[in-house]
Amino acid sequence: MNQEEWIIMSKGRLIVFSAPSGCGKGTMLREILRDENFYISVSATTREPREGEVDGVDYHFISREEFQNLIDNNGMLEYAEYCDNLYGTPVKEVKEQLDKGRNVILEIEVKGAMKIRKLCPEALFIFVVPPSLKELDRRLRKRGTETEEVIIQRVERAAEEIPYAVKYDYIIVNDGLEEAVEDFRSIVRAESFRAEFARELINEVMKNA
Ligand code: 5GP
Repeated sequence: MNQEEWIIMSKGRLIVFSAPSGCGKGTMLREILRDENFYISVSATTREPREGEVDGVDYHFISREEFQNLIDNNGMLEYAEYCDNLYGTPVKEVKEQLDKGRNVILEIEVKGAMKIRKLCPEALFIFVVPPSLKELDRRLRKRGTETEEVIIQRVERAAEEIPYAVKYDYIIVNDGLEEAVEDFRSIVRAESFRAEFARELINEVMKNA
């Protein structure tokens, strides 16, 4: 079975979740992951761990050589270079969790997302945007953790990424955590009723007729 086939045949749903830095993606995901039907894929990266980051939890921190080995052995579902570092989604974990029936979230940037779009159009693509770039700028300043230079860089990066949102299936405006998380849950719930994912259900209905 090739990668595309096993993603379609699996019981869980693959969810691609992207958002520019400062959109509240981390907080949203923490809330969403309280439901154990959801699982977040731990990516591999060649970047150095930041203070407080734990290997195997935040990322699998690996060397360029190890990363290349994974690519050569078809161990990456997708990968992309971002700010001079490689980031990728290891296949094994994603497959295991989808087979268990969990919805697997890939928290990845837009280039990787577009690769998944080609590989697996059946995945669910959700993009989170701030109410405006001005508001994003305000939130980054309020957070107070970044220098002026980094704030400007992040807002610029967001302006580059946001036009890609139209290539996703759904856009959530994060104008408040609770509502944004509720929007996410509603999307996933509505998607679970799509006829194309209900083959098994129809078989069951027919069996009992
Ligand atoms: P950071 O260094 O801030 O943790 O992540 C930088 C960017 O890499 C973020 O936009 C994040 O979504 C993205 N990213 C993290 N893991 C992956 C991955 O496995 N694949 C791709 N394509 N992007 C990733």
